[in-house]
This record gives sequence, C-alpha cells and structure tokens, in this order.
Amino acid sequence: MPSCPRCDAPVDDNARYCAQCGAPQTEDAAEELDEYVQRQAEQVAGSDGGGGGGSGSRGTDVFPSTEELTDREQLWRRGSYVLGYGTIVIAMTRVPAAESWPLILASVAILPPIRRLTAEPLGSPLKREVMAGIYAVFAVIGIALFVLLG
Ligand SMILES: [Zn+2]
Repeated sequence: MPSCPRCDAPVDDNARYCAQCGAPQTEDAAEELDEYVQRQAEQVAGSDGGGGGGSGSRGTDVFPSTEELTDREQLWRRGSYVLGYGTIVIAMTRVPAAESWPLILASVAILPPIRRLTAEPLGSPLKREVMAGIYAVFAVIGIALFVLLG
C-alpha cells in the first residue's frame, strides 16, 4: 500500500486524495484541485459586483453561479409561458364546456405576469412552486371534468 508523500499516512492504491491530509495523490487530482481553487478565487473576486437580490445562497453550494441561477429562472419562465398559453389554447377549444374554466384558471395561475400581480396585495410574489401547485390543481380538475363529462 502506498503512503502519502506529504503526511506518510497509508493511502489506497486508487485513492485520488489522501484521507488524512487531503493531499492529491495523482496528477489528475492535483490538476482538479488547482482548478477548484482557481474557481473559488474567481468567485470571491467576482462576488462584489453582484447586485441581484439572491443573497444567502452564496457559500452553501460548492459552485454557486449567478449565471446558472438566471438561466434556470429563464428556463422556468419560458416553460411557464409555454404551459400557460398551451393550456389556454386547449381550454378555448372546450368553451363553453365545464372543463374549460378550471383549465383557464390553471393557465392564468402559471403565467409569469400573474405572479407579479399577486405581489400587490400580498407584498411579495407567490413562490413559483405555489403557482405551479395551483396550476396542477386546476389542470387536474379540468382533466377530470373532461374525462367525466366528455
Ligand atoms: Zn496525507
């Protein structure tokens, strides 16, 4: 069994890092560690200019990236629009059948502008998970009515 060049603790043959002191045991591991440290340094250097409201998450994730977060947010918004408008189109084809109304409510709930409107009486926008939940409830009611009545 080889031993760690730094602390002489025994290391597994295929271990990439020393379990005792964390020293990299292979070229790859050393490179990976270098990259990791560099990324962390860039993050610390770049964290001053942040401006966005998402504080608190920094430091908890291993690789927090504001770009990733906005990407995910944009993807969510795009998905919400597609889902919302798709549902409205389907609902409109069913008017005046009973199942069209819960479907219309479902699509209204999931559309991003509605979240902004809920911010006025409530002080802060409803969480997107809540809106998605409302959507799911109305969509299920609509589909149930569609199955039962259609
Ligand atoms: Zn060691």
